[in-house]
Amino acid sequence: MKRKLIASLIAVLLGAGGLNLVGQGAAIAGEPIWDGNTVEMRSERLADGVFAFYANNARELNAKGGAAATSGGLVVGSKGALLIETMLNKRLNRQVQDLSRKLGGKPLIYAINTSAHGDHSFGNMYLSASTRIVQHASTRAYIDQHLGDDKAFMIKNFGTGRGIEEIKARTGDILVAPMSTLTLDLGGKTVDVIDFGFAQTGGDLWVWEPQSKVMWAGNPVIASKPALPWLLDGHLVATLDTLNRVHAFLPPDARIIPGHGVAMAREDLKWHIDYLTAVRKNVQAAIDRGLTLEQTVQEVAMPEFGGYALFGWVHPGLNVPAAYRDLSKK
Ligand SMILES: [Zn+2]
Repeated sequence: MKRKLIASLIAVLLGAGGLNLVGQGAAIAGEPIWDGNTVEMRSERLADGVFAFYANNARELNAKGGAAATSGGLVVGSKGALLIETMLNKRLNRQVQDLSRKLGGKPLIYAINTSAHGDHSFGNMYLSASTRIVQHASTRAYIDQHLGDDKAFMIKNFGTGRGIEEIKARTGDILVAPMSTLTLDLGGKTVDVIDFGFAQTGGDLWVWEPQSKVMWAGNPVIASKPALPWLLDGHLVATLDTLNRVHAFLPPDARIIPGHGVAMAREDLKWHIDYLTAVRKNVQAAIDRGLTLEQTVQEVAMPEFGGYALFGWVHPGLNVPAAYRDLSKK
């Protein structure tokens, strides 16, 4: 049950056409959620040697409250470069490798997966053997145990013939321990890879480039308002604590590259924090009044956060039940 739920939720999460998935929990037969054979990646220069990568249509989809394809980036130092996210398939991995060559001309020393999700990590196998893969220890453990299941549902939701069938696990060479920070030296530039605590999968890494004050967030921050967090694996309270820690960590002029969108400002995080804070307060009040889960879903409607195209499903279908379970624990 949980597995199936998570599969269908991730499917919707990853997609731009989510609304027509509501109630089906899977892609319409033969129709990929977004097409790994047609998405085109572009780069945006954020500072010297610091670039965001995202889909050509990401800005437009973000503005409409839809979810774009996976975002990532590149940091280039004098010794070499670091790639953030290795993408869904060979084709998209090749695009980010091509962008990296064009922009830096330096070998990729490191590649980071911010989570175990296939659209962030399946491309690992297409990188040079000399590139060292950086993952959270929990991400490696998850992929070791669940790659087969993940591929099956990714194929179901992204379609056959999108390069997912051939994926083989290539897991981390360098593992980040729980609640630790790993600092990587690229030559004249350092990058901190940080575990701020549970944020969506329990293997969530944040990538911080302190000189230009850019933070890559991965899926815990899908995109700017009106997109909302997805409590795929529950843990409302821990997720909210983590987002508050990230917000407190960031200087006011920091920029955030979300998991599926274009650059946002530090204060854009408040939208996500305010939402989860309101969910916690409202669901707690419902529990205190003795309401059932079904009554709580009815009661905690929160239409003021309803601008997200997937709101009608992610809020009542995922986040309120996750909060109810989390807050009911004694
Ligand atoms: Zn993703």
